Amino acid sequence: MVEQDYYDLLGVARGADDATIKAAYRNLAKEHHPDRKNGCKESEARFKAINEAYDVLKDPQKRAAYDRFGRAAFQNGGNGDPFADAGFNGFSDIFSTIFGEFMDPRGARQNAARGADLRYDIELSLEEAFSGVEKTITVEANARCEVCDGRGCNGLDRCTSTCRTCGGAGKVRAQQGFFVVERGCPTCRGSGEVITDPCANCQGEGRAISQRKLSVKVPAGVDEGTRIRVAGEGEAGIRGAAGGDLYLFVHMKRHAIYAREGTTLIADCPVSFTAAALGGSISLPGLDGHQVDIKIPAGVQSGEQLRHRGSGMSVLNGRGRGDLVARILVETPTRLSKEQKKLLEEFRATETGDECPNAKSFFSRARDFLGG
Ligand SMILES: [Zn+2]
Ligand SMILES: [Zn+2]
Repeated sequence: MVEQDYYDLLGVARGADDATIKAAYRNLAKEHHPDRKNGCKESEARFKAINEAYDVLKDPQKRAAYDRFGRAAFQNGGNGDPFADAGFNGFSDIFSTIFGEFMDPRGARQNAARGADLRYDIELSLEEAFSGVEKTITVEANARCEVCDGRGCNGLDRCTSTCRTCGGAGKVRAQQGFFVVERGCPTCRGSGEVITDPCANCQGEGRAISQRKLSVKVPAGVDEGTRIRVAGEGEAGIRGAAGGDLYLFVHMKRHAIYAREGTTLIADCPVSFTAAALGGSISLPGLDGHQVDIKIPAGVQSGEQLRHRGSGMSVLNGRGRGDLVARILVETPTRLSKEQKKLLEEFRATETGDECPNAKSFFSRARDFLGG
């Protein structure tokens, strides 16, 4: 099923204010309420979708997260997920929503002058994720205008006057149905002032697109899907307003030896049949640079997992390390010399069947099955 955009679901514009969203939701919820449609499945699904959309768009924080990342903001809640608590309540509070919340004058949207949050996808090697790493990245985005230092003025003198639309309040009130709605002033975008002599470089915005290098610290233990917030390094705000944040989205490169499950490192280790039968040891390169020696017990089987505690991945925001697991794959020889073949033939001549009890029991069962 294609997931519909929440704004489309409610039939409102992206920039719609809270009252518009509320009104649209109320109409749709009434129209698709399962009680009215005698429990029709399609209507019920739609009702649920509408509620899910409203649950997000009514909450300024969830809405901002959705605007930035779409539904992804509420999925893949891995470690370090800044939106981990922004889940849905499903049906639980639908009725309080319908009958209670329309009268609740929820707060106005966040300051429109604030800079947007930015996303930066970063790819790391397993070694980098293990030890943590400092990376230099290049971000191209609105940054504080260097010509006017973010003031938006042409020259050093004061160049603003009080906004006439809102009288300097930064907000305007409007009647909408039964409600009086307060929203950011469209003329001054909430600042209460307008620029009379704007800076030529930024047209009075106080910010302009620029490229900047940024050094970011990635903590040890991050994994695919980890998001790291770098506070204040997002887009600059309008005329010195607060900047947005930068979010690093971590992606992991494939490793030549290890697969990873959380803090466990797993290596598939081919082992010769003699080592498997007689015992031996293998060495793996630990991510901390030390060699990890793992003892192979005589009689080890393919698929057996030999665990070396504390030699795995570092724990994000924690202490210690996970485990390292060697997954044994017994390798049958394919290039035997004449001499070796002869020795194995001699060995076979001594076999009683008791050397490999599993094979013996399996084929005895198979015989019973055929005979019985
Ligand atoms: Zn400027
Ligand atoms: Zn204004």
